[in-house]
Amino acid sequence: MSPATNPGTRDRLRIAIQKNGRLSEPARALLSSSGLSWRESRDKLFCYGESLPVDLLLVRDDDIPGLIADGVCDLGIVGRNVLDEEIDGRCAAGRPATFREWRALGFGGCRLALAVPEGWDWRGPQQLAGKRIATTYPNQLRTWLRMNQVEADIVVLNGSVEIAPRLGQADAICDLVSSGATLAANQLKAVQDVMHSEAVLAGPAQPFGDVRAELAELLLRRMDGVLRIRDSKLLLFQAPRDALECLLQLLPDAEPPTMCAVDGADTLALQALCHGAMTWQRLEDLKRAGARGLMVLPVERMLA
Ligand code: ATP
Ligand code: ZN
Repeated sequence: MSPATNPGTRDRLRIAIQKNGRLSEPARALLSSSGLSWRESRDKLFCYGESLPVDLLLVRDDDIPGLIADGVCDLGIVGRNVLDEEIDGRCAAGRPATFREWRALGFGGCRLALAVPEGWDWRGPQQLAGKRIATTYPNQLRTWLRMNQVEADIVVLNGSVEIAPRLGQADAICDLVSSGATLAANQLKAVQDVMHSEAVLAGPAQPFGDVRAELAELLLRRMDGVLRIRDSKLLLFQAPRDALECLLQLLPDAEPPTMCAVDGADTLALQALCHGAMTWQRLEDLKRAGARGLMVLPVERMLA
């Protein structure tokens, strides 16, 4: 089955994800962990949902907001940088977006930042007045410049933004940064964040009016379960009752633990879901505070 032969279907949910790139694998992994499985088409552009009526369309990330707007896809997993750029662009053109961010997904983290040549002595946004700034994100840059009351020229490029200053095309750039290594390799330095981005689930601004509403709700519930326990561990241990207060202070990221008395009333057996990293250091601190028989277990699934 392909999307072209099935355009009007409204009893299946269709999710667009990036075909090849930074978000492809983590997006698939999140959806698989949420219980979805697929059969791939021969052209590898469409995956037919087998465990649930939820299909995947594999596309370029930049196309995802438009596909949702046009109703070709119902949901999409895309960087907030791409989604907000499209939303800002549509607003500027006086046609507000019919889609929005539904959930932040906790992967694909990066920031959209202004970067200037390393030799600049950065004193603040006004230093960009009258300068040329190269970017693939003109709408977000324009919004930022307006908010900071800076008048600058925006040079729109489709790629290789970081070499624009060396080529004399621009004085500064506004681009995605994660480690900063690409900037350093081009003798640039990040001086100002414009926005923080991560992968998000995007969907329509209005609720679905048919069976897709239930499917989307089911998927969201499962995704929330996966996201909640992504870095979580189940911690099991025993402790004297009088050490409890001190131990709980060492577990600020834990849900209220389940406890039961063992050995009469003086010793407790505890089980706590912890959301932060459970390092050796933390276990040693807990042991020093009285915990015994500490065990850290992975959490596979959770349904609140
Ligand atoms: P496509 O062929 O789908 O258009 P692309 O080259 O635009 O691919 P990628 O480089 O795979 O896309 O980036 C996809 C998304 O990953 C970005 O839009 C951004 O949200 C996120 N991302 C995370 N870290 C970085 C980074 N260091 N540089 C660029 N994007 C990053
Ligand atoms: Zn892209």
